[in-house]
Amino acid sequence: MKIAILSRNRNLYSTRRLIESAEARGHEVAVLDPLRCYMNINAKEPEIHMRGKVLSDFDAVIPRIGASITFYGTAVLRQFEMMGTYPLNESVAISRSRDKLRSLQLLSRKGIGLPVTGFASKPTDIPDLIDMVGGAPLVIKLLEGTQGIGVVLAETRKAAESVIEAFMGLNAHFMVQEYIKEAGGADLRCFVIGDKVIAAMKRQAKPGEFRSNLHRGGSATLVKLSPAERATAVKAAKTMGLNVAGVDLLRSNHGPLVMEVNSSPGLEGIETATEKDVAGQIISFIEKTAKSHKTRTKGKG
Ligand code: ADP
Repeated sequence: MKIAILSRNRNLYSTRRLIESAEARGHEVAVLDPLRCYMNINAKEPEIHMRGKVLSDFDAVIPRIGASITFYGTAVLRQFEMMGTYPLNESVAISRSRDKLRSLQLLSRKGIGLPVTGFASKPTDIPDLIDMVGGAPLVIKLLEGTQGIGVVLAETRKAAESVIEAFMGLNAHFMVQEYIKEAGGADLRCFVIGDKVIAAMKRQAKPGEFRSNLHRGGSATLVKLSPAERATAVKAAKTMGLNVAGVDLLRSNHGPLVMEVNSSPGLEGIETATEKDVAGQIISFIEKTAKSHKTRTKGKG
């Protein structure tokens, strides 16, 4: 197969591993920087160009689109979909997952466990907003944040009020969430491919920190998931319409709660912690699904 990887940097661990695995299985791979792709949008023959040349004949495309270029990157991916190229994850599903609030609304509609979450815009609604999520301590999250930046634990009601007022004053979008204390500064990253969790790790925050992000100094270890955790992760990925997803769960005393569904989950942490060939499994999934061309939207929506 001829596979395109949409990635800004071929030296990133995840991109390198995908190239390696695809080539080891006899595929031809091209890494395309989405920002270098430009498009001819027309009714007869949609095209993608790069450095004066037309890109064509790709059988599959693996999107590795960073959060900062979601808009442009998903437009390029959509163009591939319109040209009939099989996308590992579809552009609509990626756009959906990048909107944290929209994602939680979709997951809640399917009855998937979530931390109780509130969203408001007016300072007069702050007291009720805080009560809604069970009072302090609570977590305040900027919707635009990634890698734990913009995630704040407010330990008292006073602190919560001040931070919320400040964010509202800056016109920032944020949500307020019940703090799952019993998670003990740990979360579970479940790597879903198709309808299976193929690898999972537990990330533990460093002492004195509640955010378990590896970028924030958290450490990762292999973990065995319960059947309920597996089922929740798979259902969450399916609800978002993602074939490949990193589903982050918190272990609460009322079962697994989904925090986030990531559409471009990194491979380094999970492959290191689990010693599994996750990249190889992604390529093998593409081999199975690209042929039957099971793309739902073909760039629609
Ligand atoms: P980001 O997308 O920026 O990583 P997250 O929503 O995943 O933000 O939050 C970062 C980390 O903070 C999580 O990995 C988790 O360890 C911790 N965390 C987030 N929300 C909660 C919560 N409601 N209760 C307890 N811990 C939380």
